[in-house]
Amino acid sequence: MKNNLLHHETCEFDVCVVGGGMAGLCAGIASARNGAKTALVQDRPVLGGNASSEVRMWICGAHGEHNKETGLLEEIQLENQCRNPGGNYSIWDSVLYGKAFYQPLLTPFLNCSCTDAEMDGDRIVSIKAWQLTSQTWHTIRAKTFIDCSGDSILAAVTGAEFRAGREARHEFGEDIQPEAADAKTMGNTLLIQLRRTEESQPFIAPPWAYKFRSQEELPHRIQGVNGHNFWWVEIGGLQDTIRDAEPIRDELMRYGYGVWDYIKNHAPERAKAENWALEWLGALPGKRENRRFMGDYVLTQNDVEAGGDFSDIIAYGGWSMDDHHPAGLLYPGRPTIFHPAPSPYGIPYRCLYSRNISNLLFAGRNISVTHAALSSTRVMATCAMLGQAAGTAAALCARHGCDPRSFATGVRLDELQRTLMDDDCWLPGRPRPLSELAARGTFHSGGDDARVLLDGIDRDRPGGTHAWSGPVGREIEVKWQGEEKPAGVRLVFDSDLSKQKQMPCTYPHRSGRGTAVPSTLVKSYRLEAMDAAGNWNVVHRATENYQRLVKVPLNVACKALRFVAEETWGDPQARIFGFEPLDSCAVKMPDYPSGPGIDELRARVPAADLAPPSKPGKEPKKPKLSA
Ligand SMILES: Cc1cc2nc3c(=O)[nH]c(=O)nc-3n(C[C@H](O)[C@H](O)[C@H](O)COP(=O)(O)OP(=O)(O)OC[C@H]3O[C@@H](n4cnc5c(N)ncnc54)[C@H](O)[C@@H]3O)c2cc1C
Repeated sequence: MKNNLLHHETCEFDVCVVGGGMAGLCAGIASARNGAKTALVQDRPVLGGNASSEVRMWICGAHGEHNKETGLLEEIQLENQCRNPGGNYSIWDSVLYGKAFYQPLLTPFLNCSCTDAEMDGDRIVSIKAWQLTSQTWHTIRAKTFIDCSGDSILAAVTGAEFRAGREARHEFGEDIQPEAADAKTMGNTLLIQLRRTEESQPFIAPPWAYKFRSQEELPHRIQGVNGHNFWWVEIGGLQDTIRDAEPIRDELMRYGYGVWDYIKNHAPERAKAENWALEWLGALPGKRENRRFMGDYVLTQNDVEAGGDFSDIIAYGGWSMDDHHPAGLLYPGRPTIFHPAPSPYGIPYRCLYSRNISNLLFAGRNISVTHAALSSTRVMATCAMLGQAAGTAAALCARHGCDPRSFATGVRLDELQRTLMDDDCWLPGRPRPLSELAARGTFHSGGDDARVLLDGIDRDRPGGTHAWSGPVGREIEVKWQGEEKPAGVRLVFDSDLSKQKQMPCTYPHRSGRGTAVPSTLVKSYRLEAMDAAGNWNVVHRATENYQRLVKVPLNVACKALRFVAEETWGDPQARIFGFEPLDSCAVKMPDYPSGPGIDELRARVPAADLAPPSKPGKEPKKPKLSA
């Protein structure tokens, strides 16, 4: 008789996120932090999608000095700056892993590929997913689903409306689109990373690599080795980037080794590459484009160019419309055209839920946009914010027992936008509403008015600063008429939004490129409360802060509260965008549990299992390696 030892497991969640790229990771964390029991189903062993160690594309977002995306993305990147100054990809993976695996209410399923869905009319009841490592079929039931798979697997198995390819120019009046609609897309890429070393690094290409012998054969592509990004080793846009993914990967291998062979052995400037080694050539191509879900709204080139002034704004873009030629490397002209886009431009919530599947949200490169708008919205910082918005919306759906469309207007939309802003997502054009306690207080610092802390804008803008700044040690004080009992304090420090905080493309120095916690951030600070007798008492002290958004629970009765920065990560001045006493204080970022030592680990194992082998072996003279 035939065996079937495969496992089957069924579990139940409020929210199920499919795909663990930057969009899916942020969706999962946001959903869990806002109270929903959440599953995160990712078909790879690591999180981050194209930003992970498996693909290694750096995270880009809105252009402009003060426009960098904050919220969960900034939190993740600041932890990476602190723990990973050498820009090591394994450490970066571990930052993303820690965020997901030590997030209460979030259950990640790695190596787990969604393959099917069970429907009840226009609702998804459950998804089916195959976990390769455990030979287990998972059935995951949930109230709301979020597709962050990039390739929109839930469009393939639920009947959700989607489109792929380029729209005709006339359809939405987009002048960067072709005359007639077609199925062409941007292509896939296997990235290459280089490392500078101190000795000569010969390279012998595999015989099957493609052969490039002059710069004319690769026009507009190769620059120097230093800091180079090989995004342009791109093909597949003339095929189907899903169905043809495997042959496209095989081709990319031949292109990738061929390009490096050209740089090392044939380029006129090959002497400059003498000491450079091939650090890594990916095996999993990064994908740019395929199915885009259709929502209640389809964002177009014209919306992007008009600045995206939407009442239901939940995120923003700001990368140019970076429209790659579908022939990729085979096209002898410039590989992409950067059509200008204003930065920032708003993206509406209506692009994040399905027009025909009632409990389906999506986030990432598969949202409801045209090909032209996608060429801007697809960058990963934008995708991360879209993920945070979709995850927050899904958690609010669970809280209120309703479907995603309910959050498109009215008080529910207001709740969604307020929650996002409270979690440090900037919604351009919308000041963040402040607590009643903050509004009742008077803010000053060393005799000066500190009302800038009450303007609800937690970043600098081109017209001026929105930060309080003063020398380390100077206090900021909020005072009330009588006694108050703040539930906590919300602090927003300056994490230097002019820095992109990206992982490296190549390694020009042996130790990586040296990222670090921004010198502007406050490292140590204390909070003091004035009691009824007029005495100041320290109620909280932090010494190793590296985050921008910090919430401190307090619950102390006081007549006044003050904040004192004791040290920054380098700057003599402390800069603070927010110091807000709170009416209620939900601390959403969890502390990591501390890993135990070996004694505790052994104590978890039954003593009998730690008994020595019944027949002890003969001690070798020299220790031997074991297999
Ligand atoms: C070569 C290249 C260069 C680029 N350059 C940049 C750049 O410089 N900066 C930038 O910000 N962006 C860049 N982009 C664009 C950006 O990487 C993508 O648009 C972005 O990764 C989309 O994010 P996402 O989270 O939607 O999808 P992804 O990053 O693709 O993540 C989706 C995840 O879902 C998983 N998944 C797929 N199907 C399933 C399934 N059935 N079940 C479970 N999991 C599934 C995938 O394995 C993947 O990990 C580039 C893209 C490429 C390919």
